[in-house]
Amino acid sequence: MSQKDKSQSIFTKSIHAGEDRARYADSITTPIVQSSTYSFKDSKEIEAYTKNDKKRYEYGRYGNPTEKVAERRLAELDNAEEALMFSSGMMAITTTILALVQSGDHIVITDDCYGKTLEFCRSYLKRFGIECTIVPFGNYDVLDASVKKNTRFIFSESPTNPYLNVFDMVKFKQIGDKHKVITIIDSTFATPFNQRPLDYGIDLVIHSATKYLAGHNDILAGVLLGKKDLVLKVRELHKSMGGVIDPHCCYLLLRGLKTFPLRVKAQNATALRIAEYLEGHPKTEKAYYPFLKSHNHYQIAKEQMKGGGGVVTFTVKGDLDAAKRFMDSLEMIYIAPSLGGVETLITHPATVTYYRYTREQRYDLGIVDNLFRLAVGIEDVEDIIADLERGFAKV
Ligand SMILES: *Cc1c(COP(=O)(O)O)cnc(C)c1O
Repeated sequence: MSQKDKSQSIFTKSIHAGEDRARYADSITTPIVQSSTYSFKDSKEIEAYTKNDKKRYEYGRYGNPTEKVAERRLAELDNAEEALMFSSGMMAITTTILALVQSGDHIVITDDCYGKTLEFCRSYLKRFGIECTIVPFGNYDVLDASVKKNTRFIFSESPTNPYLNVFDMVKFKQIGDKHKVITIIDSTFATPFNQRPLDYGIDLVIHSATKYLAGHNDILAGVLLGKKDLVLKVRELHKSMGGVIDPHCCYLLLRGLKTFPLRVKAQNATALRIAEYLEGHPKTEKAYYPFLKSHNHYQIAKEQMKGGGGVVTFTVKGDLDAAKRFMDSLEMIYIAPSLGGVETLITHPATVTYYRYTREQRYDLGIVDNLFRLAVGIEDVEDIIADLERGFAKV
């Protein structure tokens, strides 16, 4: 018996959803089934399995009991009919895309997506004769006009990196319906705590579960969620691509998920406090956070999201050297990419993510020398601010 009370709060579901009431050795936690294959008792059992009379496992690439619990729990958190786990967020994105297109097809993606997603669509899909149109984020007329007869899906992300632009789910759904194309959203930054795009009628949601869902900066994982028929189509290709998550990672994900709403609730509050602190700071040029009134997408964010998320982006007053001094003076906050974990991390996109770009190319994308992205953890907000003060003292 799985805990299937749909009316339960997300705080409760995060602990109980997807679990079987009876577990191996009466364990409270879901066991890690560390097995690559599963034995059949006899030929009768094989027959029952192949005739679909008996649900069971066959081989590790096609499914694992620990993974199954994670899929069921994530499906319940996002109100999805079906979930599919992957070894990383990028594996979820690339496998989903490949499952939905064939040579001669066209896709549309907004220009503010995750770098590797854009690179995959722009460079690799072309090799297979799949045409990709990249449209400016937030320009819904251009998005609408770019859909053609052979367009298979439109793909966007929300909120985006690093400026935290927010996509309008209502308009996205309208455009998808009008052209009868599949809508896909990378909802990693929002998480099912702050927004559930499937509730808006979006067809498919993808998360890098590496971030808030797992939440401890210790695993890589990805998940696809949505309607059964679409997810099953991707599941078939996944069996051939083989980007499966291992059972131990699933255990860590399940463990992380138990505190997911508590963490994100705290991160929402801390990030808003820090965004307000940064906005009022004499050594900050500008702060970007969806729940700040000064943010371009404040209205949509307030209407469609429960919280602004755990990431705050800002520019310090000063040049590249001032930015480096700021970063080098931090004592608690780690200088590291990624987000969504319990530790507060800061990145300087100009010198890390965009180090291969010329200064001009970076500036065209808004990646200026004095820009920082702060991914808040669950430390006390005063301690995070105290550390930022150490940095500002050197700017
Ligand atoms: C991190 C991230 C990804 C990629 O996920 P991995 O788990 O690192 O493969 C995709 N989209 C967004 C928005 C991300 O932040």
